[in-house]
Amino acid sequence: MNFSNIALKFLPLFLILILTEAFLIVGWKKQKYPWQESLVSLSVAIGHHASQMIPTSALMIFAWHHRISTISIDSWWNVFLLFICLEFAYYWYHRASHRIRWFWASHSVHHSPEKFNFSAAYRLGWTGGISGSSLFFVPLAWLGFEPLAIVTGMALNLTYQFWIHTELIPKLGFLELIFNTPSHHRVHHAANSEYIDRNYGGVLIIFDRLFGTYAEEKVEIPVIYGLTYPIKSNNPFKIALYEWIKIIKDVIGADSWQEGCCYLFAPPNWKKLNSSCSLPTAIGNNHTYLEQGE
Ligand SMILES: [Zn+2]
Ligand SMILES: [Zn+2]
Repeated sequence: MNFSNIALKFLPLFLILILTEAFLIVGWKKQKYPWQESLVSLSVAIGHHASQMIPTSALMIFAWHHRISTISIDSWWNVFLLFICLEFAYYWYHRASHRIRWFWASHSVHHSPEKFNFSAAYRLGWTGGISGSSLFFVPLAWLGFEPLAIVTGMALNLTYQFWIHTELIPKLGFLELIFNTPSHHRVHHAANSEYIDRNYGGVLIIFDRLFGTYAEEKVEIPVIYGLTYPIKSNNPFKIALYEWIKIIKDVIGADSWQEGCCYLFAPPNWKKLNSSCSLPTAIGNNHTYLEQGE
């Protein structure tokens, strides 16, 4: 069981919600719905589904065989424990996916839509297996959670995140304190310097509050969605591989192996402005590294 399988089960519901949202945007908000971008997201989602057929969980099974305890999912307490551990792992996976270019190469695909709606939720990268995104969840198997329970929990976590990709739902009162909501996730998808690289949580927002990466959506600062370097293409292959190609070009053009490593593992858009590359930090302003017009 993985996200693609669970997402397939939810597909009819997701399609109804996507069409309802489109109807509300056109009929109620009197705005244009980005049909083309939405269909491109669907084609990227098909590629993501195909890429999930590559098994990436061998390391997780290895860790499970060398686990230090066994935490079976036979009580609500243990289910809750798995949920919190998954959220913690997801937070760090997501933070690394924004601040380390190697992981950003896969994750940037999800941030490429310039309109924010339900269809953006299923625009997911194809190369998570190459980046090794599942590494962040391996310690859970070593702690004693069964790999199947981890992967299913992760899939449910991502399924939860479908409904937070919309501009139609306003702030939700006290829920904003604990849960990742549409308002928090609008901030997460922003390219504005005021918001960029914040709100990494999956279902919960508590780890962002704890680790200093939380930002609140402000009415006076409208969100600008998408990447700081718009791809301007509807070709799903170009969208899925764009950052990897940029990385390869940068590494080939590097003057030293240290510079090559910085292009791979420093924050996205690092440029050789200083003599050394900064370590990936929690919050960063990618614009700092961009030259005008890029
Ligand atoms: Zn993200
Ligand atoms: Zn998202």
